[in-house]
Amino acid sequence: MRAVSTPPPLTAEPPSLPKHSGPPTIVSSLDLDSLEPGTRHNLHLDLFRDPAGQQLRIPVLVVKGAEPGPVLGITAAIHGNELNGIPAVHRFVHGLDPKRLRGTVVGISVVNIPGFLLRRRGFSDARDLNRLFPGKTGGTDSQLVIMRLREQFLTHVNYLVDLHTAGPGRTNPVYARVDLEDPASVELGIAARPDLIVNKPASPKTLRGAARALGIPCVTLELGAPQVLQPEIVLRATKGLRRIARHLEMLSRPLGLGGRPPLCNESSWVYSEHGGLLEVFPDLLARVRKGQPIAHIVNLFGEIVGEYKAPFKAIVIGKTADPVAPIGTRIVHLGKLVPWDE
Ligand SMILES: [Zn+2]
Repeated sequence: MRAVSTPPPLTAEPPSLPKHSGPPTIVSSLDLDSLEPGTRHNLHLDLFRDPAGQQLRIPVLVVKGAEPGPVLGITAAIHGNELNGIPAVHRFVHGLDPKRLRGTVVGISVVNIPGFLLRRRGFSDARDLNRLFPGKTGGTDSQLVIMRLREQFLTHVNYLVDLHTAGPGRTNPVYARVDLEDPASVELGIAARPDLIVNKPASPKTLRGAARALGIPCVTLELGAPQVLQPEIVLRATKGLRRIARHLEMLSRPLGLGGRPPLCNESSWVYSEHGGLLEVFPDLLARVRKGQPIAHIVNLFGEIVGEYKAPFKAIVIGKTADPVAPIGTRIVHLGKLVPWDE
């Protein structure tokens, strides 16, 4: 019988993470200047005391390089169920050698602790933290948390990478959201080497928009699906963070010139106008022509009740992974590809 050779399965790099070495240092403010150059710190930053009197602390991983340089901030899980960014922060930060780092890396592995524990996007009051910037004193719990995060973290960084995934029931490849009007942010996106770069000026109510308002270049990396860890995507995100640090000349090996990923200057979702069982046809990153069938919805007798076609020539940025589709379900996220301006 003829031997069939199968390719080896894709495996993630075994992470080189340290063993637990004691409790983190509790701090009520982030004072990077007071830290010795060439050192590493696990900090628990006091953000907020909840109505039951419990202190909410967030995990902040700091590596202060031996040489002065920029402060690179990284945030994951501001949406509590978007998990792929968390191990990416861990692996990137623990892979840094403080003695050979220029500048400081400040990584928050989980911004939204209550959402993380409840396995949901929103905060303990169900509000979306990434729609509440700049926050306010005397507001709701979530508004107060955002105000503290902005003051105690965001105003201390020179660059920001905010890690997300697709929303609930949906999935996407690795793509970067940037504002094309902000060249430094676009460069961060290119350095991360995503599958795609999507132009999306950020609302000032988001973390990326709040960074923009402070003049801090920021990229949002969208990393696969929510609620799961996807090893290949975690690995790509970790490498992307490392390339961003090289681009910022924080590591000794400079980032060579690489190609630029495809660019979408705008994008939009196709929504369902019928309820039923949804089948989406194209894969992520597939290119579809205008009028190409992209999905249909059948009723429970197997009859087609809705057919959906691409409204323009596009690339598939995201799609729903949940076949149970009420009216108004997001079906496919389509992007308009454009050439890069020279
Ligand atoms: Zn998100």
